[in-house]
Amino acid sequence: IKHAIIAEQFYIDYQPKVNSKGGIIGFEALIRWYHPDKGIVSPADFIPIAEETHLIIDIGKWVMNAALTQQRKWIDLGFAVKPISVNISGHQLMAEDFITFIKDSLVDHNVEGRLLEIEITEGVLINEIERCIEVLTVVKSLGVHISIDDFGTGYSSLNYLRRLPLDILKIDRAFVRECDAIDEDREICAAIINLAHSMDLSVIAEGVETKAQVETLMSLGCHNFQGFYYHKPMGRQKITELLIQP
Ligand code: C2E
Ligand code: CA
Ligand code: CA
Repeated sequence: IKHAIIAEQFYIDYQPKVNSKGGIIGFEALIRWYHPDKGIVSPADFIPIAEETHLIIDIGKWVMNAALTQQRKWIDLGFAVKPISVNISGHQLMAEDFITFIKDSLVDHNVEGRLLEIEITEGVLINEIERCIEVLTVVKSLGVHISIDDFGTGYSSLNYLRRLPLDILKIDRAFVRECDAIDEDREICAAIINLAHSMDLSVIAEGVETKAQVETLMSLGCHNFQGFYYHKPMGRQKITELLIQP
């Protein structure tokens, strides 16, 4: 993996997030690894390995730098720029220098905090709750949006949730997949959406693939979506075209 960074085998695809009218509200940066022999390796395969070996720190830095470099280009091109979200692993969030890293990244790329969002999985947050509250409070004070990824899979206590300085809950794909077909899944989605609203947070559903899912989620009060039904992850060139001709 270290070799991949040096050999410049990583690149990023961006997946648009949309509102109920299909308008773009942001993008998620998703890392891709083009291996010369194996072809494209899924992040679901190499991110967990990278986490074990702490190489995730280097990868995470690489992604942040690449995403903010791109964000700066879109700003310079004069687009009505939306926040770009970057996935942050547990090790990265817990690293001594995380706050400095975020501050420096924003300054180095001359990007306002409000144009960055970080996505952290629920499991990471509940593991080290006190430290997360501390770190995220500072990060949020920079204007950065904070989103809980894969929400609904980590058994957060509501008391903890309330104490975290959050902006967005992201409903895990597992509940979205059959929310239009299975009562239990729909009820879980409804519970998450109501929870978000009662805590004054935004809510977005990920992995949305069908109209039926969208309609169900809208009827439950969720109006932000990310998924193949709207847009697949795509290269920066495609995103630029999308921004030119929305
Ligand atoms: P995630 O953060 O939950 O990202 C969403 C994943 O769902 C992405 O997979 C995306 O391509 C996929 N997806 C989006 N819409 C749909 C849909 O409608 N249907 C289906 N079936 N899938 C959809 P991807 O890109 O393979 O990433 C997998 C995971 O790898 C991510 O899950 C995230 O946990 C991790 N990851 C990706 N990039 C990074 C990164 O830069 N840093 C870290 N720490 N983790 C990353
Ligand atoms: Ca994510
Ligand atoms: Ca997710």
